[in-house]
Amino acid sequence: MTSKVKLAGRCMCGAVEISGTADGPTAGACHCDMCRRWSSGPFFEVTCGDLVFQGEDSIIRFRSSVWAERGFCGKCGSNLFYHIVDSDEYQIAAGLLDQQSDLRLALQVFTDSKPSYYTLADDTETMTGAEVYAAFAPPSD
Ligand SMILES: [Zn+2]
Ligand SMILES: [Zn+2]
Repeated sequence: MTSKVKLAGRCMCGAVEISGTADGPTAGACHCDMCRRWSSGPFFEVTCGDLVFQGEDSIIRFRSSVWAERGFCGKCGSNLFYHIVDSDEYQIAAGLLDQQSDLRLALQVFTDSKPSYYTLADDTETMTGAEVYAAFAPPSD
């Protein structure tokens, strides 16, 4: 059983504040080329619901693929979220959260894209890029 917990966080400059709820809380890490270009490392995220953004004016949204956009703070550049548009799922950047000590890394995706110079020691579920596309590809109809 996972339980819902309240989460709160903010960008580096404080112009954007985020609150919401998450299961666990568990975190995921994405090793894909785009996330690493965006984050200079794997993108650590927590999937959040019931989201409230303060400082929406400062959020810049970049459409990074046909199915998703990425948000960042226009004042300080902090990465804020990966947003799957069709399902309206928000994956909040874990580094924004005020409380990170309770987070447990549960999943790593695009493990076949991970460069060899780092490895996460945590024992997690893993998915290759092909497995991610097979599991989450939008229905074709
Ligand atoms: Zn900021
Ligand atoms: Zn990624």
